[in-house]
Parts: sequence; C-alpha cells; structure tokens
Amino acid sequence: MLDFESALEQLLAQAHPVTTIETVALADALGRVLADDLSSTINVPGFDNSAMDGYALHVPDFACPPEQYPVVQRIAAGEVGVTLAAGEAARIFTGAPIPAGANAVAMQEVCTVNDGQLSVDLVLQDGANIRRIGDDIAAGAVILTRGSVLTPAMIGLAASVGVAELPVMAPLRVALLSTGDELVEPGQPLGGGQIYNSNRYVLINALKALGCVVSDLGIVADDRSATIEALKTAAETHDVLMTSGGVSVGEEDHVKAAVEYLGELNLWKIAIKPGKPFAYGKVDRSDSFGRIGGCDFIGLPGNPVSALVTFLMLVRPFILARQGVRQVLPTRLPLIANFDWKKAGDRREFLRARLNSFGQVELFAKQGSGVLTSMVWGDGLVDLPAGQTIARGDVVSYLPFTALGA
Ligand code: AMP
Ligand code: MG
Repeated sequence: MLDFESALEQLLAQAHPVTTIETVALADALGRVLADDLSSTINVPGFDNSAMDGYALHVPDFACPPEQYPVVQRIAAGEVGVTLAAGEAARIFTGAPIPAGANAVAMQEVCTVNDGQLSVDLVLQDGANIRRIGDDIAAGAVILTRGSVLTPAMIGLAASVGVAELPVMAPLRVALLSTGDELVEPGQPLGGGQIYNSNRYVLINALKALGCVVSDLGIVADDRSATIEALKTAAETHDVLMTSGGVSVGEEDHVKAAVEYLGELNLWKIAIKPGKPFAYGKVDRSDSFGRIGGCDFIGLPGNPVSALVTFLMLVRPFILARQGVRQVLPTRLPLIANFDWKKAGDRREFLRARLNSFGQVELFAKQGSGVLTSMVWGDGLVDLPAGQTIARGDVVSYLPFTALGA
C-alpha cells in the first residue's frame, strides 16, 4: 500500500499549471486564479484625508488662546480646499483632502460652532483623525500575488488602485465519466439491484466549486471500443479525465483497459480510509509527441464517501496546482476530541465530524464509506494517523469543509 503523503507527492509532481492566460473584468474575477503579481502604481489613500466628519485645524494654534477660531471654508469629499492661515479652521467631511496648513481633524462630536467661531472640547494630537497618503498601499508595492484564488476583498483591492481587469489562468477543462452497470440517473425509476448515480452530481459540483469547466460525458457504454473512442476524443479537448468506480483491483472495467491502451495507468492502493483504490494515469493526445502534454486521468473509488474524500484530500490539491494556485493544501485546526476512538486502524482515517457548541469535535455515528449522509451532517474531517487511538480530551487534527471548498 502507498501512504497518503507519497500519493499526494506523486500527484503534485505531475500537476503542471495550465499555461493559457485570460483577462477578466473585475466583476467576473471571483474564484479565478491570478496569473501575475499585481503592483499598485498609486498611493492609497492618494492624499492625506479626513477620517471623520469634523473640523480641520492646526493643533499648535489651538493649544493657546484665544480658543475660538473662525471656520473659513467647507471641504466635502471630492473637493479640494485652500490653504488655512494660522488660527483658521475648515469644516471637513470624511474622505475630504486635508487642506494645507492643517495637521489634525477634530471630530464634530467634540466641537461647538457659534457665529462661525469654532471651539474644541478636547486636546488634539498632531495628526489626529488624518488618514495619511500611502498608509494602506504605497505606490509600487505588490498588492496581490500570482497564484491567489481571487476573493471579493482581493478584487476590491485591485479596484482601489484603479485596475479594471485582471490576468487569470484559463480554467481547467475536466471531462467526467461514470461507470457501473448498476447506475441509474436520478428522475428514472430504479430496477432490481440498481442505485442512483450520486457521484456524478457530487463530482460535477465539486469540480465547479474549484472553478473547473466540466463536461459531463455521462455513463460510458459497456463496450471496449466505444470506451476507447470516448476517452480518446475527450482527451483532445480536456486537461483532465475523471471517473468514479471500477478502480478496485481485479475489477473488470473497460475504462481501466482503455486508459492502459491509450497511455499509462497506475493503480494505487492508498493506505487511507475511506478511499483505498485510486487510479492515476495519462491518456496520450494524438498530436502530442510522447506522453508529455497528454491528458491526466484520475479514477476515483466508487463508494460515494470514498469518492468525495479522495477528491477533497488528493484530487483537490492536484486540480488547484494544475490551475496555478500557490496554496493548495487545506488549513488544519488542532481541536479537542469529544469522542473516543478505541480501535487503532492500519490505514490513515478521515472521519466525518463536526464541531459542537463548545468548539469540540463530534463524530458521525456511521463512518461507512457508502454513508453519504455523514458528509452532509459533518462540517469537516478528523485526520487520524494510522495506528492511533483517541480518548476524549485529546487534540485531533481537524480539516473544516470550508477549508476544503466542500
Ligand atoms: P466500485 O468502486 O465500482 O467497486 O464501487 C463501489 C461501490 O460504489 C459500489 O457499491 C457501487 O455501486 C458504488 N458506486 C459506484 N459508482 C457510483 C456512483 N456513480 N454513484 C453512487 N454509487 C456508486
Ligand atoms: Mg463498479
């Protein structure tokens, strides 16, 4: 059996980022992968400005009597004032430029104005309530790094420096095939011994959540030459071919045979639970010389929890790396277990779990690899090393589904 880390390492070694770069408008950039570092050509703020509605003034003038000052101008956001003379004040609003001659803003709550004369009921420091030029971003600074998955805040940061569009990696094109004579599509009646094809919908959506463009090729016909033809055609226009089911050792499966025929197939028994059987390979493209540049093949196990857990733990980092993402491994949290785990397994386990109201980890009662309800009840996975038992109160490594995009 192959340990999890080696399997992940081997997959990531094959995960060459896509090379096509596109340009997208900011409104279409959410979740895309930034293809280049972005630096700012401007300072943000672009000028010293008021952090408050109030009065701009020169602190040393206010430190000595008379303690009333004439308000000589009004500066709203978007306007530019004129230089203040000694002892003068300006009505000013949040975001408006600080006029020359002023070095502080008194917020209006501590100000009184009578007959155009201002008095301030507070000792102000030099610089009070002024947002300084370049305080957020200095001109020339790198503000976003290549390989980031763009969030609303990142996109807003680009907008704040005046950038209207961003270079992003082309989305990964993934073709999904289902295998299994027992599978029936939702909406159709079930016959004897048949089950609904749930993996298809889990995987289409898990791939879409990672920003992939997914072609759903449906259930492959149970026929060798038709399977070869389908894979060969799909390989021409996709970066990754993915299937679920049929990767167990000894199983008769046309997809396995077809991938072997068209390229190269590695059948792995990974020492994880759920998820042991896994296949990784390449399908050569007719226009490529040798295998470099071929289409990746990923064969997930058929059991629904195994398929999704292996997807999240192994395939997700691979897909992210293929898309040029820098940070591909999920954030883990060390958390207190509110359960006992008495039997040490011989494989690393990913247990379906969630946090209780004390922030401690609870396990779903049924940990079977076919129990898809566990993935809905849960909000994360406990990563339990092989050979380990857990007693209530121990610290476990927790992988929240939010960190796995699930
Ligand atoms: P396999 O890996 O093909 O041996 O399948 C293992 C288990 O997963 C069997 O119980 C299959 O019926 C089930 N299975 C395979 N493919 C799917 C699918 N697309 N949706 C739901 N269950 C599946
Ligand atoms: Mg099967």
